[in-house]
Amino acid sequence: MEIFRGTATFSGIAIGKILYYQRSDYQIRQYLVSNIKKELGDFNEARLTAVRQLRELYERNCIDNSAQAKVFLDQAKLLESGSFQRAIESMITLEKVNAAYAVMTNRDELVTTFRRLEEPSIQERINNVREISNRLIGILGGISPKINLGETPVILVADTLSPTEIMEMDKEQLLAVVTHSGSSVSHASIMAKTMEIPSLVDIEINDEWDGCNAVVDGYTGTLYVNPDREILEEYEIRRKADKKEREELLKLKTEKDRTIDGKEIGLYANIGSLDDLSSVLFYGAGGIGLLRSEFQYLGRENYPRENELFLAYKKVAETMGDRLAVIRTVDLGADKQADYLDIPDETNPIMGNRGIRLCLDRKRMFKAQLRAIYRASAYGNLAMMYPMISSEEEMDEIEEIIAEVKAGLQEKGIPYKDIRTGIMIETPAAVMISRELARRVSFLSLGTNDLTQYTLAMDRQNPLLKGKYNDHHPAVMRMIRMVVEAGHAEGCKVCICGELAADTALTETFLRMGVDSLSVVPACVLPVRKALRETDLSVSL
Ligand code: PEP
Ligand code: MG
Repeated sequence: MEIFRGTATFSGIAIGKILYYQRSDYQIRQYLVSNIKKELGDFNEARLTAVRQLRELYERNCIDNSAQAKVFLDQAKLLESGSFQRAIESMITLEKVNAAYAVMTNRDELVTTFRRLEEPSIQERINNVREISNRLIGILGGISPKINLGETPVILVADTLSPTEIMEMDKEQLLAVVTHSGSSVSHASIMAKTMEIPSLVDIEINDEWDGCNAVVDGYTGTLYVNPDREILEEYEIRRKADKKEREELLKLKTEKDRTIDGKEIGLYANIGSLDDLSSVLFYGAGGIGLLRSEFQYLGRENYPRENELFLAYKKVAETMGDRLAVIRTVDLGADKQADYLDIPDETNPIMGNRGIRLCLDRKRMFKAQLRAIYRASAYGNLAMMYPMISSEEEMDEIEEIIAEVKAGLQEKGIPYKDIRTGIMIETPAAVMISRELARRVSFLSLGTNDLTQYTLAMDRQNPLLKGKYNDHHPAVMRMIRMVVEAGHAEGCKVCICGELAADTALTETFLRMGVDSLSVVPACVLPVRKALRETDLSVSL
């Protein structure tokens, strides 16, 4: 048994087998093809291109680096071998699937079948299969970041995972996520939290763990690889206890969000896709305090169309009914990239063209989203807020665009509501001008993940800053207080929607500051409800 300690980003216990994921293993989408002859032709052309590339690589390297060059030659031969070709051709023909998908499936089947065999010649052949398959998939195009988790739920181990990769995963097949990079407030971790999956970061991972048994302790941040019997038995018991504790919490699903002395607090959920809507209702949240709208923009090849956005927001509005649903306009850039956005390389993307700046830069994209939100507003209780605001000038521009959007809808007789708008307070600049900002909207929402990052000048994703990135820093606490006071002075409600809102050690502090509402991942709604129901604000400290 080996024991590794990292940082837990979502609690819970998982016991199962490890699936080691390496990003170079391209994953692609499956679709049915009608013209099989063409698909076979495309596959064959890609195969010949790959053979040509590999033979050129062999020629170029055979003198200086003969061992590696021989690998290229072996791979070219494998591509020319009848068995590899036939396996893929027969899958395309019989199952009528696209060539890239057939190559990927063949690759994954071979790798899964032989991965536990240690014979060096077999491992070498498997590596060659993996590499030629990836080469072919690259030539055939259609790469997508969907990770194939297989049939049995696994503990996914990876050096790093992007928000897109997390988003595309089949969460039914995930027991836990363990990565080397990331932090508790990195976007990938937040998504894993929303999926309610125990997750650890900052673990030195090893590709040899693939297929090994493991235990993930999402309370202490510990990973046990090949756990011995005692550990397994202990964690089986803890998993059951965990389940029981969760069942106790579930009794609070229909209780009010009211302190002992009777103050009503808004308790909302943060979600990152339509799949999470059911958890908002399941845990009895008051609504959605933060809908991270990026899910329709990531993991695809082009901008989403207005109608697609509209249908999603309409579904949110209708599902939530009278409950509030706050859509955060899209916060792309930095760690949330898509090729089609074509954002030029930036030295410091976290401080670059992201959030509202990107939207104001891509007005067509922004307008399409605003139109979609307004159109959907007729179907429920929507509100909207803007991320990464740092100046009043940005608000001037937004207000102008909104006026145009509304005029356009009126002209066409499309119904919409004058929904409430809000500003996310995520930059120190926004804190300092929060009074001016509060005059322009009906609520402020503190994004403490980014606010901490920009206040401390510490990258929220950098594992080396673990122990230094301190979201309880007095500067952050003082800023929250300032924003509450500024917001209230202008008649604005103030919410916290960053991860800090779920920190029950701070619930009482926030309530005493006068915070009106908290918005947390769905799985944290009940623990926070418990904490606020145990708070008595009439008792002075
Ligand atoms: C935040 O920064 O606290 C926030 C809620 O936004 P995100 O985590 O999506 O950047
Ligand atoms: Mg943010």
